[in-house]
Amino acid sequence: MTAIPFDNSYARLPGTMHVGVAPTPVEAPRLIKVNEALARELGIDPQGLTAEMAVGNLLPAGATPIAQAYAGHQFGNFVPQLGDGRAILLGEVVDQAGRRRDIQLKGSGPTPFSRRGDGRAALGPVLREYLVSEAMHALGIPTTRALMAATTGEKVYRDRILPGAVLTRVAASHIRVGTFQFFAVRRDHDSLALLLEHVIARHYPDLRGAENPALALLDAVMAAQAELVSRWMQVGFIHGVMNTDNTSVSGETIDYGPCAFMDVYDPATVFSSIDEYGRYAYANQPAIVQWNLARLSETLLGFLDADRNEAIRIATGRIEAFPAIYTGRWLAGFRRKIGLVSEEEGDLDLIQALLDAMQQARADFTLTFRRLSRGGEPSALADWLPKWHERLARDPQTPEQRHALMQSVNPAYIPRNHLVEEMISAAVEQGDYAPFESMLRVLMTPYAEQEGAERYAAPPEEPDFAYRTFCGT
Ligand code: AMP
Ligand code: MG
Repeated sequence: MTAIPFDNSYARLPGTMHVGVAPTPVEAPRLIKVNEALARELGIDPQGLTAEMAVGNLLPAGATPIAQAYAGHQFGNFVPQLGDGRAILLGEVVDQAGRRRDIQLKGSGPTPFSRRGDGRAALGPVLREYLVSEAMHALGIPTTRALMAATTGEKVYRDRILPGAVLTRVAASHIRVGTFQFFAVRRDHDSLALLLEHVIARHYPDLRGAENPALALLDAVMAAQAELVSRWMQVGFIHGVMNTDNTSVSGETIDYGPCAFMDVYDPATVFSSIDEYGRYAYANQPAIVQWNLARLSETLLGFLDADRNEAIRIATGRIEAFPAIYTGRWLAGFRRKIGLVSEEEGDLDLIQALLDAMQQARADFTLTFRRLSRGGEPSALADWLPKWHERLARDPQTPEQRHALMQSVNPAYIPRNHLVEEMISAAVEQGDYAPFESMLRVLMTPYAEQEGAERYAAPPEEPDFAYRTFCGT
C-alpha cells in the first residue's frame, strides 16, 4: 500500500464541522487515469495508486474520511444544510512545495448529507471534471485538480442508466463561502471563530496577527476571487453554477458541473440547462461573485466590530469596492491579451470596442485572440485594427516581445464543448478512452501550437448556441 503522508487538520476541528463516514465499497473498480505528475507533487508514488484506492474500497493508512458540513445560496435561495453529499474527504497532505492540499473522493457513496441523492457520480461528468480542471491548471488558472479517475463497475441512475465512476479531487481546501454560512445561520460563533482561524492559517498565513483578522480575510478572499473570475473572463469560461457553496475561499475554481467554454463570443452566453434566467451567464459572473462575497461578509459581521451597525458599514464599504478591484484585474489581463505592457486611460474603451466588434461578427473568442497574437488581421475587426495599431505604436515592446507576450496569454487550445462531448460519448458508449487521452495531452500545453492538433483548435462546424450542460456529477 502506498504511503500517503496524511496530516488531517480539518478532521481535528470540532465535530460540528464534519461527520465521519467511510466510502461505500463498489463491485468492480477499474482505473482510468492516474495523474502521475500531480501524485509526485503531493509526495505520493504514483505506482502505488490503485483502482481499489481510487474508488474508496481501500482506505490508505492515515486517512480520516469525513463529509464536510456547509450551507449555501443556490440560485439565490438559501439552503441552510447542504454538505458533502457525494464527496468524502480522505485527508490532507503537505505537498513538496509546503502547501497543504485536500485529497477527496467524489462519487464514493452516500453520506449523512446526501438527502435523497445516491452519493454517486456518472462516468461522463467525472471525465469532464478531470479534463477541464486539468486544462484550467495548464492555462494557469487556480483550480482544484484531478489525481485519479476510476469506474466502479456499478450503474448509476440519472435520466438514463450510466456507468458509475469516482474522481479523486485535490484542492487547497474545500472550504467555501457556504462553509461560513453553515455556522453563521446556526449562530455557532465558536465554530465560526475556529473556521476563521483555520482559513487564515491555511490560506492566508500572512494575515495572522492582523489588527482585524476577519476584515483582512474578507479583503484577501475578495482579491483572490477578483483575480479568479477575471481569469475566467479572459478565457471565455462560464462556471455555470456559481452558488455560494461553489465559491472557494482559497480562490480556486471548484465544482465543474455545468461549466463550459464559449466558442462564439456573446456576453449573454448560458449553457446550464437549469439556469433558466441566465443568472450565471458569462457577463454576470463578476456581479455574482460580488454577491457571493457579500454573503461571506455577512457571516463575518460578528468579528468585524462589536457594534453591529458599524460592522455592517465596514462590510458594505468593502463589498462596494469590489467592482473597482475586479476591473483592475480584468483590465490588466485584457491589456496583456492585446499585447500591451504600458497603461493608458483609453485602454478599457479600446478593449471594449474589440469585444463589441467580436460580438457583432459572432467571432470565436479563443481564435480571435490567438489570431491577433500571430499577427493575423481578422476582416471582421477592420474598423478596430487601426485603433489598435495606433495604440501599439505607443507601447514600448518590440513586435517579437509582443508576439511572445500575446501567445503566452491567448491559448490556442481550450476544451471545446463539441470535443468534450465526443470524448465522453466514446468512453461511455464504447469504453474508448483514446479521445480522453489525446485531448488531455493537447490541453496540457495550451499556449503552444502542436503538430496534428488542428482539430482541437478549430471551432465546431455548427455554432453551439443550443449546447446544454447538466448539473450532477
Ligand atoms: P453541486 O451541484 O455539485 O454543487 O451539489 C449541490 C449539493 O447537492 C451538494 O450538497 C452535493 O453534495 C449534493 N449532491 C449532488 N449530487 C448528489 C448525489 N448524487 N448524491 C448526494 N448528494 C448530491
Ligand atoms: Mg458543489
